Amino acid sequence: ASAKSYKDAGLSARLADRYYRPAQDSDPTFVGDVERISGTEAHICYQCGTCTGSCPSAPRSSYRIRNFMRRTNLGLKEVSLTDPDLWLCTTCYTCSDRCPRDLIPTDVIMAMRNMAAQRGIVPKNFLGTVNFIYQTGHGVPNSDANRAARVKLGLEPEPETTCKYPEYLPAIRKILESYGTKQLADKVLAEG
Ligand code: SF4
Ligand code: SF4
Repeated sequence: ASAKSYKDAGLSARLADRYYRPAQDSDPTFVGDVERISGTEAHICYQCGTCTGSCPSAPRSSYRIRNFMRRTNLGLKEVSLTDPDLWLCTTCYTCSDRCPRDLIPTDVIMAMRNMAAQRGIVPKNFLGTVNFIYQTGHGVPNSDANRAARVKLGLEPEPETTCKYPEYLPAIRKILESYGTKQLADKVLAEG
């Protein structure tokens, strides 16, 4: 089915959006689900592009946060959740600081990642990070080099986290297990 129809056939041809095929691709529940999980009103995005213009990942990759905001409002769930670019956001929140609509695009991405993860769609390097968190409480564990740098700065070698208080590690492990995240990491990483 044609996505759009204009009275002027020439104009219709020029404006045809080859990426938007509502009958096949669009899920009208997507924007509501993303808003509920993210807690941000994604539907009022007016596509100004400030988010992408502020994003440190944009110049280094094909990732465009504005594109994901647009997809949200077009109901393009499948393409969003299966796009590897979904995992290139660093969660720096610069876009969220600068959005003129006071949206939190970062949390839109996090909502989509949660939805993807529920389907078992998670890049392997992220699952490796899950294992680091499970083992140490940190995605990037402390190291001898870091400890030496901290001491040089007059800090204690271990930060005020599970590094210093490993007795809290069981609680972190329980969270990862109760959401099935650890089990997913073990299963996928074992497959090689
Ligand atoms: Fe939408 Fe805000 Fe990004 Fe502008 S900065 S495109 S309003 S999310
Ligand atoms: Fe880009 Fe993510 Fe940072 Fe937003 S939070 S500016 S999308 S890297």
